[in-house]
Amino acid sequence: MTDDTPLSPEAVADLGPDRRQALFQRDAGIETVRDDVRDIVSRVRTEGDVALREFAREFDDVEVGNLDITDEAERAYEERVDEDVRDAIETAAENVREFHEAQVPEDWRDTFGNRELGRRFRPVERVGAYVPGGAAAYPSSALMTVVPAKVAGVEQVAVATPPADELNPATLAALHVAGADRIYAAGGAQGVAALAYGTETVDRVQLVVGPGNKWVTAAKAEVRGDVDIDFLAGPSELLVVADETADPSAVAADVLAQAEHDPNASVVVVTDDEAVAEAVVDEVARQTPERDRADTIRETLSNDASGVFVARSMSEAVLFAEEYAAEHLSIQADDDEALLDRISNAGSVFLGPYTPVAAGDYATGTNHVLPTNGKAKLTGGLSVDTFVRSTTVQRLDRDALGDLRDTITTLATAEGLEAHAASVDVRFEDADEE
Ligand code: NAD
Repeated sequence: MTDDTPLSPEAVADLGPDRRQALFQRDAGIETVRDDVRDIVSRVRTEGDVALREFAREFDDVEVGNLDITDEAERAYEERVDEDVRDAIETAAENVREFHEAQVPEDWRDTFGNRELGRRFRPVERVGAYVPGGAAAYPSSALMTVVPAKVAGVEQVAVATPPADELNPATLAALHVAGADRIYAAGGAQGVAALAYGTETVDRVQLVVGPGNKWVTAAKAEVRGDVDIDFLAGPSELLVVADETADPSAVAADVLAQAEHDPNASVVVVTDDEAVAEAVVDEVARQTPERDRADTIRETLSNDASGVFVARSMSEAVLFAEEYAAEHLSIQADDDEALLDRISNAGSVFLGPYTPVAAGDYATGTNHVLPTNGKAKLTGGLSVDTFVRSTTVQRLDRDALGDLRDTITTLATAEGLEAHAASVDVRFEDADEE
């Protein structure tokens, strides 16, 4: 059985302004829920736990008893997951831990002339991680958010995840392995608001991180300012840059894997080879009916931010990739390193025919919480850096301050800040009097 695929190859050169806007200024529906999310956040701020329970009823169809479900994580790990799932969680956690340990910055001091300068790094104290769990379960996101925070040394990592009559045991087990300190049954915008402002049950945090659907992402945008956030990590995106050497069935499989996340996801292929574009479209049509989540996949492929595009050259494909600024960039082409050299805007890059995005989603050890909606032009994905702040340190001796004295007092005087100049001069009064 083959689908009537919603895809057909389009020429990059012929893209009209509406299509370009949908592709390059993606917002994944976040604007459409902003007003609703503002109401949800404000109700959590004023009504606390009562609002969390009411929203659980309304959006998750669950009567929540205990909002604090921390104790269930260890039980799930010990009793509710099969051994193969437990092993897979442990392996993935170890790979994520190893890669993030390599990122831990070291304090340093150095001398610059006669000035002693340095930087030191300390973790944020209280972090909230949103772990999604609506349409699918995301034990992998539990690892990707909590493990880096713990590696960075964060003392208190609280997690909000959607409530359910039967909470996903793999997600709970992953939270146990990752070392989450508290876990709350609060999903969507209300979960983010609870972490940001606190309720009777939920302790407020200083930084909220993690991916989620459009309500989660809009809520992070809403609370930003009152609390720090990592970045907006909304519905997933994939851009495959392919040349004539790409295997169309592998490209199509990667496209479907990304498309099964969320109907608001964006999945795009750009190639300089028309035959590859046609073959990918055919493969998508052939493989879609075989997938469990074929309905979501079809919806995603039909949205305006998805498509298969033919560029006139690989240079045009590279320009397309730079403008798209993908969360996930897969390069399936002969000279992938040379193409990568020409691309700066991407959250995470997957090189070569044996590096499907799914490998990074779960197990290579890189982080899968990545900026979407073109934000890869401005920021990278979740990392140890997200959870540490830096402090600069300096020490001058008398000679060093003497060398800087004129520079400081001249600039301070130019700014009209006489007391600044005096704070330097006073230290040389004895010498000046001699
Ligand atoms: P989710 O946990 O993000 O959202 C579920 C919650 O959405 C529910 O608990 C509910 O509170 C809220 N919600 C649902 N319908 C609502 C409505 N009509 N009004 C108000 N709130 C409503 O889980 P999900 O829906 O499965 O989405 C997970 C998302 O996370 C996907 O879009 C996936 O692509 C994305 N994701 C992104 C990354 C990344 O790094 N960018 C990683 C993993 C997952």
